[in-house]
Amino acid sequence: MLTVNFLGFSEDQKGREQKNHIAEALKIASTWADKVNTAYLNWNLNANSDAKFAALAEQWFDLKNDQGRRKILASMVRRMAVYFQSDRTLNLRYGGISSDDPDDLAETAFQSGEITLFAPFFDAEMTGTDSAPGTLLHELTHQIQNTEDFAYGTDDSIDLALDEPFDAARNADNFEYLYEGYCS
Ligand SMILES: [Zn+2]
Repeated sequence: MLTVNFLGFSEDQKGREQKNHIAEALKIASTWADKVNTAYLNWNLNANSDAKFAALAEQWFDLKNDQGRRKILASMVRRMAVYFQSDRTLNLRYGGISSDDPDDLAETAFQSGEITLFAPFFDAEMTGTDSAPGTLLHELTHQIQNTEDFAYGTDDSIDLALDEPFDAARNADNFEYLYEGYCS
């Protein structure tokens, strides 16, 4: 079972509410990881089996007829599903307001894999674009498959899939929007 290590959270009511928000988001993220992995496997066996997944794979990864990007996606969604069933430790740090951008929800330290959650994360919804579960999945793609942040946001991530599809297959937001689009 995944162990969550909380760093820098207060022991008061606010800290408890933040941990509850994280626990709920992680539980949902885990179900999304399973759902997308299963959808990928079904779609890989029969491309006509899941029109919704096929449309999202096309939108976020320009995946039609491309074996290279298909392998990257397969690896990512499988590793994500396995991650939530693993006995690894997830280090989550409370970061207050980001000094880079007050709207930032989270960031990952590439060396340690530690994820910092900023104040806006605790206002994020459990469904839809830029959700709390989707944000955690975004950060975990950095840790699990060394994804990058070539583009942020839906518009730029769609453009990336059209213009530089192999970069899209390594871009954290493209994975986040696949999970959010398919599951919520
Ligand atoms: Zn990122």
